Amino acid sequence: MLARHICCTIVTLVIIGPSYAPAQNKTSDDGSLFNDSHFHLTNYIQEGITAERLLELMGSKVGRSTLFGIPLQQQWSYQNSGMFSPSYYLESDAPLYYYSFTDAYIAMQYRSLSREQQARFDPMITGFNPADMYAAKHIERVLRTFPGVFTGIGEFTIHKEFVSPKVSGEVASLTNPAVDSIFDFAGEVGLVVLIHNDMDMPMSKGKVAPVYLDQMKNLLKRHNGTTIIWAHIGLGRIVHPVGYGSPPSREHSPTHIDIVNEILSDPGMSHVYFDISWDEVAKYIIRTPETVTAVAKLIEKYPDRFLFGTDVVAPKDQESYLAVHKMYTPLWNALTPQTSEKVRTGNYKRIFDEGRRKVRAWENAHVRQ
Ligand SMILES: [Zn+2]
Repeated sequence: MLARHICCTIVTLVIIGPSYAPAQNKTSDDGSLFNDSHFHLTNYIQEGITAERLLELMGSKVGRSTLFGIPLQQQWSYQNSGMFSPSYYLESDAPLYYYSFTDAYIAMQYRSLSREQQARFDPMITGFNPADMYAAKHIERVLRTFPGVFTGIGEFTIHKEFVSPKVSGEVASLTNPAVDSIFDFAGEVGLVVLIHNDMDMPMSKGKVAPVYLDQMKNLLKRHNGTTIIWAHIGLGRIVHPVGYGSPPSREHSPTHIDIVNEILSDPGMSHVYFDISWDEVAKYIIRTPETVTAVAKLIEKYPDRFLFGTDVVAPKDQESYLAVHKMYTPLWNALTPQTSEKVRTGNYKRIFDEGRRKVRAWENAHVRQ
């Protein structure tokens, strides 16, 4: 979710460049490389690119994409940074606040397109405060105001390194009934849920079990009628994979892969999917040949449960838009062509087509159009 990470990504690409063979990856029907399950049209100050411009960047390389902004706005506090205008949450000590207008902006961007262009997008509702018992009402209001537009909700955030403590007002929690009402409503409508929730605290060093894991599993299990994508496999820039860099004494403790495997094998969580978006996640996965092999083995075991997304924010050109996909080349090469196709295109199509179908049916039944 960090625009500025693109430059680091590009540096990485130079290193892995020679092994990149895009032709091998063209496995979808339309010849595109992937569908993007995680894309931000706008940034933390609600600026970005138009949907029309995104279509130009997608070209023939990207088939379909989710479409959302960022629900949080970085306040420009004169008291804090004077005339320096922060465009990113790390550039100011001033708080972030929920910016509900993002949903209207995304809807209007979508509506500015032709029907054929719209068919390539799955807009998502994000502009609600997950600590507010009225959040589900906001989601419903957006659907009623813009019927025929949205497929899901998210990316919205409960725990996120650096971000959660900066949000104005009551801190979000996985145990807040407001989150349950959001998940309940999403399940009732058929909205696909994309949630960001760090599995662990930053830099935990594995001293204790991942601090938010049990709460998250309980939340997921309470909502088995809702299709839920857990973004970034619960990782962050400094929220490392569980077991990452553990001393030898802890080598028999569950690793991140063990934890994800347990979730995917649990029949009570068969409605849960993971996205492997973000260059910050890719850096863990492609770290060594061994990490690539271990992740590929897990994905091969559950090929229908992972989605690729870029998590790019308002990219300025096609190269930066495609950079995360390119960074993952070692993983694509380690998967069978069938599994690679599912992660990059097929799973998106199945999950978001179903979301579209259900949401349109709910709107037909509940919204006068
Ligand atoms: Zn994101």
